[in-house]
Amino acid sequence: MKYVIALDAGTTSVRAFVYDLAKGAFVYGAQQEVGQSFPRPGWVEQDADEIYYKAAYVLNDCLRFGEGEVAGIGFTNQRETTVLWDRATGEPVCPAIGWQCRRTSEWCAALDGATKELVRERTGLVPDAYFSASKIRWMLDNVPAARVLLAQGRLCAGTVDAWLIFRFTQGASFVTDVTNASRTMLFNIRTLDWDEDLLSRFSIPREILPEVRSCDARMGEMRTRDGVLPICGVAGDQQAALVGQNCLRPGEGKITYGTGLFLLFNTGERCTLSHSGLLTTVGYRLGGRTAYALEGSSFHAGSGVQWLRDGLGLIENAAQSGQLAASVSDTGGVCFVPAFTGLGAPHWDPDARALFSGITRGTTRAHLVRAVLESIAFEARELTDCIRGDGVPLSAVRCDGGASANDFLMQFQADVLGVAVDRPAERESTALGAAMLCALSLGLADETSVAEYRRAGQVFAPDAAVRDERERGYEAYRLAVRRARMK
Ligand code: ADP
Repeated sequence: MKYVIALDAGTTSVRAFVYDLAKGAFVYGAQQEVGQSFPRPGWVEQDADEIYYKAAYVLNDCLRFGEGEVAGIGFTNQRETTVLWDRATGEPVCPAIGWQCRRTSEWCAALDGATKELVRERTGLVPDAYFSASKIRWMLDNVPAARVLLAQGRLCAGTVDAWLIFRFTQGASFVTDVTNASRTMLFNIRTLDWDEDLLSRFSIPREILPEVRSCDARMGEMRTRDGVLPICGVAGDQQAALVGQNCLRPGEGKITYGTGLFLLFNTGERCTLSHSGLLTTVGYRLGGRTAYALEGSSFHAGSGVQWLRDGLGLIENAAQSGQLAASVSDTGGVCFVPAFTGLGAPHWDPDARALFSGITRGTTRAHLVRAVLESIAFEARELTDCIRGDGVPLSAVRCDGGASANDFLMQFQADVLGVAVDRPAERESTALGAAMLCALSLGLADETSVAEYRRAGQVFAPDAAVRDERERGYEAYRLAVRRARMK
């Protein structure tokens, strides 16, 4: 067997890649866009059937390429998005509620103090509409068909991984993995089981939830034209990227520079609850061992660069931002805070708004562009300061996502963090993680050999000569954040 396939069911597209085990690289990929609908302000829905049919399409495409030489399929997926379906027919009961959907915000805010504390303590999360529990509760309360199926013992509730595995195994496997489970607000991250106290407080019956397995467990078998293929190797997208970046030791972490900024750091077998506004989550469970992770995210990173291009017309394309930023030696005192829709971790301030500060008559386009790129690095610094504050020393920072292509940003990031920033040759860390988990599960790799899946790219070492200057820049940024939060 030459190949494993990684299926990545993302928010806006479903993609599948063929990974060649001998070449150590992806050799084929297929992609289908998936729709989202926004039926009311703040609501986000998806068609679970569409996700399944498009996943089947891209998988079949990859299987045709693989021509009978595929050993297995690993899955990774957008997290938290919740599907309810009929166990007997496999039909979705209603539209899936997307992770960005805010319809249950008030319900979450109204939870009593003891329940909120229980959520933090048991799940490592902060009570929020983002996570699946309130979405399941909303569907049970508002979709009559869901209650009928519940009464008949036919209701299934799950995240996108559980939904796809159920459909691909024709209902034979109703399972999820520990990383996806840890994003539901129902999962006890210490006992690695659904939490009875939370289930009863939220009145969600355990029977409607999938069985939870390790990331390297065999999840089921999928019938294909070449025979039966194992589905094994499953993790939510951020956790799959952690694995794909080979962050398998404590202190190793990855920062994804996409539309937003997503940071995940391995904290090892110790379950560290954050005191600084980060989330604790299951990083992965492999070979019977659990690794926990601290997670922080900012809503806007690359989106600031998009705004420079589309909103202000200061640049023609994203890549130009790096050239312009490097054309000046500093921002001339300008700071930018990308709080377009408020600030995420560690501030959690929905009312903050973006600002430029320190503008003078000497300010040029290059200064403004540079300030936007610098703000991305400073956001990451705020989050890594939280991780250090929670007692996790950073040993390696690996990067991916669209804006990680920017050499100026990566060098600036290394200087601001005081740690080398390591960019792999392969940008698809999420799919790579699913391929690695699949290979581990099938025994085609072990934890040492799997490290070779991640191919070296470029390492940006911190420049000690600019350290003091970068510290002053960070202090100025923190002051600008305080201004952005002033009412
Ligand atoms: P997502 O998965 O969130 O859609 P991607 O990982 O595809 O995001 O990254 C896209 C983002 O990266 C966009 O916001 C874009 O502005 C930014 N981006 C892409 N290339 C560069 C670059 N060279 N410099 C700075 N930002 C970039």
